Amino acid sequence: MQVKCNVLDRQFQMYQEEYEQAALRVLRSGWYVLGNEVHKFEEEFAQFTGRKYCVGLNSGLDALIMSVRALGIGAGDEVIVQANTYIATVLGITENGAVPVFVEPDEYFNMDADKIEKAITDRTKAVMVTHLYGQASDMTRIAAIADRHGLLLIEDCAQSHGACFAGKMTGTFGISGCFSFYPTKNLGAFGDAGAVVTDDEAFADRLRMMRNYGSKVKYHNEIEGINSRLDEMQAALLRVKLSHLKELNDERKMLAKRYDEGITNPAIILPGVRDGAESIYHQYVVRCASRDSLQKALEQGGIQTQIHYPIPPHLANCYAHLGHKKGEFPITETYADEVLSLPIYTGMTQDEQDYVIGQMNAWRV
Ligand SMILES: *Cc1c(COP(=O)(O)O)cnc(C)c1O
Repeated sequence: MQVKCNVLDRQFQMYQEEYEQAALRVLRSGWYVLGNEVHKFEEEFAQFTGRKYCVGLNSGLDALIMSVRALGIGAGDEVIVQANTYIATVLGITENGAVPVFVEPDEYFNMDADKIEKAITDRTKAVMVTHLYGQASDMTRIAAIADRHGLLLIEDCAQSHGACFAGKMTGTFGISGCFSFYPTKNLGAFGDAGAVVTDDEAFADRLRMMRNYGSKVKYHNEIEGINSRLDEMQAALLRVKLSHLKELNDERKMLAKRYDEGITNPAIILPGVRDGAESIYHQYVVRCASRDSLQKALEQGGIQTQIHYPIPPHLANCYAHLGHKKGEFPITETYADEVLSLPIYTGMTQDEQDYVIGQMNAWRV
């Protein structure tokens, strides 16, 4: 049997008619950028998260870059970020000339709240937390630390659409919740798309101007902006997907539970979930000391897996100038060597999953 790590057309087929109707509606409308669909999606997604405002953008990376910029963070400022995150989180900081200050993750792959205060200096402006793999970070504590030190809190929710901590949605703890709607995300578009959610009207206004060349009124440019507009087609398709997001997340939770119960190989560490946190299982990530050999065995059995992420940002070539060394963040580096993301996606069949579970249990170091 062949099991791919993702089969994107299955989620399309589930709601094919609704997607096709939405696409035709946009094609026939004669209005393709910043119109009714974007407006409606922004309203619906703000309501879904429980925030007052949503600003639709081109991508998740833009949401991060523009949040940092709109908050006035730039050259010489430091932003605390977890060392095992995806490179885009860090790019959101460095694109603005600010300096990422890495802290190690905890056993749930999220920012270790115990290590934040040691990383704070008089140049620290913000904490940028990623709810990695779909699990909410330790937000009550992290928000309290940010508060106590007068730091801005930015959340990278690119993998956590709908995940909660203590019953409160990720993206609602800090000033800015940054979302990606890249096709593989739990709330994925059919192309690139992203958004910021916030309760701060001035911040939302600034992002709205920034995404549209710095103008609110056409040709009246208030700030130096860029072009980062969510388009009508993606917004219309996202509205369909958003209306089914709860059932889509529930399906992934059910698949994760089947992995939790089915994988019994003692050489494999299953992912835990912190008390109070919820995971929407953007990824189902196991750890294994002989990860490469496990991955190879699965591949030979026809099972595709992924590594999120093999090279932590502090060791990436693009950040050599930051001067970090191997061994500086041992937990992060161990995770990079040991993590393996198993196939988990909308429309995955029981047979496919049983096959993966069987191969996982049959594998020997
Ligand atoms: C996908 C992702 C991003 C970037 O989103 P794009 O829409 O691809 O720009 C940022 N952070 C994390 C954690 C991601 O997984």
